[in-house]
Amino acid sequence: MTAPDPHDMPKEPSMIRQKELISGHYDKLATAHEEGKKVCYTFVPGNLTELLLAFDVLPVLPEINALQSGMRKKSGAYIAEAEKHGHSEDVCSYVKCDLGMMKTGLGPTGKHMPPPDLLLLSYTGCFTFMKWFELLKQEYPKAEIAMLHVPYQGQGEITQAMRDYVVKQLRTEVVPKLEKVTGKKLDEDRLKELLERSARAEQDLVWVLESGKRRPSPIDGYFGGVFYIGPIFTAFRGTEEGCDYYRILREEVQGRIDRREGPVTPIGSLDQQKYRVVVEGPPNWTSFRDFWEMFAAEGAVCVASTYTKVGGLYDQGFRHDPTHPFESLADYCLGCYTNLNLPTRTGLIAKYVEEYEADGFIVHSIKSCNSFSAGQLLILREIERRTGVPGGFIESDLVDPRYFSPANVKNRLESYFQMIEQRRRGAAPAAEARP
Ligand code: SF4
Repeated sequence: MTAPDPHDMPKEPSMIRQKELISGHYDKLATAHEEGKKVCYTFVPGNLTELLLAFDVLPVLPEINALQSGMRKKSGAYIAEAEKHGHSEDVCSYVKCDLGMMKTGLGPTGKHMPPPDLLLLSYTGCFTFMKWFELLKQEYPKAEIAMLHVPYQGQGEITQAMRDYVVKQLRTEVVPKLEKVTGKKLDEDRLKELLERSARAEQDLVWVLESGKRRPSPIDGYFGGVFYIGPIFTAFRGTEEGCDYYRILREEVQGRIDRREGPVTPIGSLDQQKYRVVVEGPPNWTSFRDFWEMFAAEGAVCVASTYTKVGGLYDQGFRHDPTHPFESLADYCLGCYTNLNLPTRTGLIAKYVEEYEADGFIVHSIKSCNSFSAGQLLILREIERRTGVPGGFIESDLVDPRYFSPANVKNRLESYFQMIEQRRRGAAPAAEARP
């Protein structure tokens, strides 16, 4: 979600700016309490950043801390620490990494991580969120708790009753808790200003993500996409800094379109693109650079992904709306990827395959993420049936380095791309890249 730090790869100006934003936020957190600021722990899907910022509350996203620790090769030790405290091997590795990190009192950049003044659980589809927050509650018994229950999109739609239910909780549960923690009254005009800026940044982000429809694609919509979504999925939605970042990013991508260049990858600019693929599932963070390189070395560019939608499906038309602040926050929470049922997710991926004219799609199944991984084989077969495009299946984990097997992943990817090549030549398909 936020910027990985592939040390020795070339960096675009937007990557440098992104890194500055994220590390600046960790710096602010380190001194938040000394400066009288309140801190809220909450999750990326269903985050209410504009509402928090309207109260000058700084957000901490535990899964971002976990993935940042994974990028910095610290997650293995944190996970071992959590397992020593009795957390099973099968538990989501973000949770264990976060719990292990908490014991140190430090964030992923090595700076002090303040304890929360508020634990705000915006519950959007993944049951692990609930269990994770129970553990945070045990760890920080003095923090105030607010729970926003977001109904699952079981029927694949958002009804007015669902929206009203969430709006009511925002007004009667979340805002009063924020008022209590901060001692301030909600300023709705300020909230509207923040939402207006969110919509502006979302517009530019969508433009960037949709540029993956071009040939050559000027972006990598999965690995590169992880950089692009960083600010908007964390603390910068609704801020001028966030708007500036997306403006810079858009200009940068426009420059690559004008020069007919591909995205920057760990092995350089990917201008010659042999395969266009859509990817489902989060990336592996502990070997992010190697993982990306395996695709780039094959000439494969990821033109679209579902992971870049985990903090909002802006490309499907949603924008935060300052004219309906609470309804729009409710729709945002209801529409997050983790809150979508399997038929909707299947339809979305099939749509990406068609609209982005992909040669294939790859499911990256995460050992410890039930929310993403349940039903992925069914999804894979259904998308193949609908689109006629072959799917590949690879497995690893988020931040548990024990479950990234480079040789295995590389072999599967090579077999998969060979299969696409054989298909192009009219030979019989050899579906070796999946179980
Ligand atoms: S969606 Fe997956 S990675 Fe995120 S909390 Fe749930 S199980 Fe963990």
